[in-house]
Amino acid sequence: MPAAGPPAAALDPSWVTADPTPLAPDHAQRLAELSALDPALADLYRRGAELLAGAADVAALHERQVALLGRERGIVTRGLAELPSLPVEARKVRGRGLNLIKRWLSEIEAARRLVLERAAETRETIDVTLPGRRPWVGHRHVLGRIRDELLDLFHGLGYSVYESPEVERDEYNFTKLNFPPDHPARDAHDTYFLTDDVLLRTHTSPGWVRAMEERKPPLRLVFPGRVYRAEQVDASHMDQFHQIDGLFVDRNVSMADLKATLNAFARAIYGVEARTRLIPIYFPFVEPGCQMDVECSICGGSGRVAGEGGARRCAVCKGTGWIELLGAGMVHTEVFRAVGYDPEEVTGFAFGMGLERIAMMRYGIPEIRMFLENDVRFLRQF
Ligand SMILES: [Zn+2]
Repeated sequence: MPAAGPPAAALDPSWVTADPTPLAPDHAQRLAELSALDPALADLYRRGAELLAGAADVAALHERQVALLGRERGIVTRGLAELPSLPVEARKVRGRGLNLIKRWLSEIEAARRLVLERAAETRETIDVTLPGRRPWVGHRHVLGRIRDELLDLFHGLGYSVYESPEVERDEYNFTKLNFPPDHPARDAHDTYFLTDDVLLRTHTSPGWVRAMEERKPPLRLVFPGRVYRAEQVDASHMDQFHQIDGLFVDRNVSMADLKATLNAFARAIYGVEARTRLIPIYFPFVEPGCQMDVECSICGGSGRVAGEGGARRCAVCKGTGWIELLGAGMVHTEVFRAVGYDPEEVTGFAFGMGLERIAMMRYGIPEIRMFLENDVRFLRQF
């Protein structure tokens, strides 16, 4: 007749096990001794010992101890409680085996508890000989580093830096740069106007006007800074970004000088193998004007990138395979007249580029928004 009481606990098959030998050096002999009595008893002992040895902390150890040796439902305890219902011979063998298992598992449980408690004590102790934790130190923003790199490059070509205001007069941002009164850039949809006459500069080119009004030619200047456009924000447009303009004014400056300068620039930034192209384009303040494109590094010039469910259009180059790197051209005679230079005496070229675009191409950054989101996981990569 089975003993009354709750059913025995179950051992969770997901519990981690470990070799109990370090806790019980005579583990193998114990297994042999139990096998001689009954292989099923040896199995129970082996399983219990491995589970106790595998407990990762005191709570897990307690849980396993309760399942094996607990007073109510412990598997060994229930086995002992059922002994009176067995025939005499079986009762003797099983009783001896279960009592051995109970003692040995209790010993292993105690040994494992000691190991876990000592480990916890060690963790809680402060080791004064350990080196201090290094405080987290930031570094310069990727755009600041690119800007300095470009300024170094232009310094080597003989250019000095000229800083001009971010809050600018309409006259400097547009009128003296030969923007006609009805030019779309003068619309409030494209430009942040503070008053009818004052605005956030839309490019760094107003610096040319200020520099030329202050100084006599020859001039060889670069104009770094932040500019603002009332843009719809997307993967390659922000309503604020950074530019560097360059201006070279002297006698007999030609388009060939401009091309040579841009080529030196492209080679220094992208290496000699980077493919570029010059195409004619209109800007009010240059004549002739051109645009230098560089092959899109995100899609390798194919215009398509692999994505979930097949290739899709490259968002950075909008599927064209090219990215507009900079605009350039020969300074317009009307601009020279506006600052009091004589276009019969001097000529000059100018160029302007976006720092974000250069950084995106250089590092394969897919979204211009990432520069301003201040996500440290992004920023610490550079
Ligand atoms: Zn692309």
